[in-house]
Amino acid sequence: MSKNIVIIGNGISGITCARHLRKLSKHRITVVSAETEYFFSRTALMYIYMGHMKFEHTKPYEDFFWEKNKIDLVKKFVNKVDTKNKLVLFSDGSSIGYDTLVLATGSKSNKFDWPGQDFKGVQGLYHLQDLENMEENTKGVSSTVIVGGGLIGIEMAEMLRSRNIAVTFLVREKNFWDNILPVEEAKMINRHIGEHHVDLRLETELKEIKGDSTGRVSSIFTNNGEEIPCQFVGLAVGVSPNIDFLKNSGIETDRGILVNEFFETNIPYIYAIGDCAQFKTPPNGRKPIEQVWYTGRMHGETLAKTICGQRSAYSPGHWFNSAKFFDIEYQTYGVINAQQKDSEESFYWEHSSGKINFRIVYDKKDKTITGINVFGFRLRHEVCDGWLTEKRTVDYVIEHLPKANFDPEFHKQYEPEIIERYNKQSGKSLKLKSRKGLLATFLK
Ligand SMILES: Cc1cc2nc3c(=O)[nH]c(=O)nc-3n(C[C@H](O)[C@H](O)[C@H](O)COP(=O)(O)OP(=O)(O)OC[C@H]3O[C@@H](n4cnc5c(N)ncnc54)[C@H](O)[C@@H]3O)c2cc1C
Repeated sequence: MSKNIVIIGNGISGITCARHLRKLSKHRITVVSAETEYFFSRTALMYIYMGHMKFEHTKPYEDFFWEKNKIDLVKKFVNKVDTKNKLVLFSDGSSIGYDTLVLATGSKSNKFDWPGQDFKGVQGLYHLQDLENMEENTKGVSSTVIVGGGLIGIEMAEMLRSRNIAVTFLVREKNFWDNILPVEEAKMINRHIGEHHVDLRLETELKEIKGDSTGRVSSIFTNNGEEIPCQFVGLAVGVSPNIDFLKNSGIETDRGILVNEFFETNIPYIYAIGDCAQFKTPPNGRKPIEQVWYTGRMHGETLAKTICGQRSAYSPGHWFNSAKFFDIEYQTYGVINAQQKDSEESFYWEHSSGKINFRIVYDKKDKTITGINVFGFRLRHEVCDGWLTEKRTVDYVIEHLPKANFDPEFHKQYEPEIIERYNKQSGKSLKLKSRKGLLATFLK
């Protein structure tokens, strides 16, 4: 029987769900979003500001794709969900009915009630509208402050530096992102931020924002009592699930919308996926809320199967994430704790340039690897993921590193240096098994 499926949110999770629903069924599909008519890549927002791309280039599908695939798009803001009458109510007073509802409403930037946070020129970066505001708010400015040492904060710093605007970057932690990164990696990024002429202030917090007579930000005060003059403040202190419109809907929420491993909420035929979903019992080794692109995609694909009768539990496999800190690319596989556990050991190598490094964390007893961090060069996802699944030992991985080299023909090889350091530290005399990596595998 054909269902009437409404998806609120046209981000990666909602759109992936819609695409897979269409592949698997003839159900009626409507995707609602207040932000944009068409799906775009949120992760590419910075490149629009930096002049590398136009908004049009961030849309992965041509505009005709949606009509051709019979996916209806509605650009409206949802005020309320009436779960009793199965209605989605819009801010313009109109509404649509649903048989199945998918909540894929993403996140919103955090604000922590700082005095002055509503002055003109103070903003976060999440939605396209924020990018448009940032364009407007940074016209002609000479000094700015970014608050919050995470991935969006460093992106905002890079965006501003690309226009030669001075940036003071306030980071509460001892080192950049050191609640996630081990100290060596965090210190490397501290240095790299400095090389890009960003004034990085560690262990410094925002206390208050001051404005001028026109209502525009004119300076900030830090917790150390220092006043920093500025005409723009970027607030990048994390994001939280976008769920305010669900108040009094009867849908159970905590920080996010509470779901089980099938993305089911407490109300039948209502599901939540992507940044806004919070697992009551997270999959092994995972966090209750996953606010990254590739997990949103997995959520959407998995839920489409369930809605189409192939009931599928979310089984994400090993954690993976990638990001970029100015010029340094970062990939992480499995679990790398910022503070090493007693049951773990780790091997760390850093190139003399101070911009490239590699870490393996492994179990102290049986030496099987539990995580890999790599900065400044790339490893092949399927190879690293396979090593974690196969529970390979640290010796095995070090010997077979060339297999994971992303493109042995074009990329510099660091494996000889890495194995030399490993042998020195461990007193072993391991040898690289296949210097030509995948090419060698194909030629075998
Ligand atoms: C600047 C930036 C850079 C990022 N870089 C990376 C990266 O490098 N790697 C990575 O893995 N992740 C990155 N992320 C995170 C990633 O983009 C998100 O995890 C992902 O986009 C979330 O997808 P989603 O489908 O859950 O929701 P979203 O993409 O947030 O989409 C939800 C949509 O629902 C709409 N909506 C919400 N409420 C309503 C309502 N009531 N009515 C109508 N519409 C509504 C929203 O406007 C939005 O359009 C980045 C995020 C930002 C902001």
